[in-house]
Amino acid sequence: MAEPLRNTEDGRQGVSEDAARLWADLVATARRTVADGLVVGTSGNVSARVGDLVLVTPSGVPYDRLTPADITGVDLGGRQVLGTLVPTSELPMHLAVYRTTDARAVVHTHAVHATAVSTLVPELPLVHYMAGALGGPVRVAPYATYGTDELAEHMLRALAGRSGCLLQNHGTITYGATLDQAFDRTAQLEWMCRLWLTASSVPGRTPSLLTEAQVTEAGERLKGYGQRR
Ligand code: 13P
Ligand code: ZN
Repeated sequence: MAEPLRNTEDGRQGVSEDAARLWADLVATARRTVADGLVVGTSGNVSARVGDLVLVTPSGVPYDRLTPADITGVDLGGRQVLGTLVPTSELPMHLAVYRTTDARAVVHTHAVHATAVSTLVPELPLVHYMAGALGGPVRVAPYATYGTDELAEHMLRALAGRSGCLLQNHGTITYGATLDQAFDRTAQLEWMCRLWLTASSVPGRTPSLLTEAQVTEAGERLKGYGQRR
């Protein structure tokens, strides 16, 4: 992987092709969270890592307004190294994931069914084997104010052994090896939350649940799902 930053001829720090391409992918992913109804307005945020550089969506800027010139990046300590827009207020959560996992992308949303579930239970009941794709039963991180180190700490505990969790009375966070993988995990998590809410709202009936062993087995099988021979 080439250096994310390079010096231009006039000595100013410029952006490498790798970083520019990653920024375009990041903006496309952020726009998808809105298009797919996982985010309303400027809530939520997306990041992606290349080397020691973490590209992040800026705080409070609608994604359809972002251009290549708006590229925003920080180092793993949170120091801004690219751009002039203010980085997302949820930097503590994004950086905590990069510091403690091999994640290359992180997606945070306020998806409505997932957020509803976060107000009801400490863990999403095992209504579907796709929990295996997130590493097992999805936990809910206890509430803390958005953008705080406290929220990042709660999130890290809820993420242990998982690639996603819910944030109580707030939303979702997932990570992956690519922006597509992190996004897909959010979409699956939101779908599972919707499934549980739908099944558990039938009067007089209670949804059947899977065991952790069943979900683990499905998770193992999913590792080879949709791959080339
Ligand atoms: P930012 O606009 O600062 O990314 O914040 C949105 C959000 O979801 C805070 O939790
Ligand atoms: Zn949020």
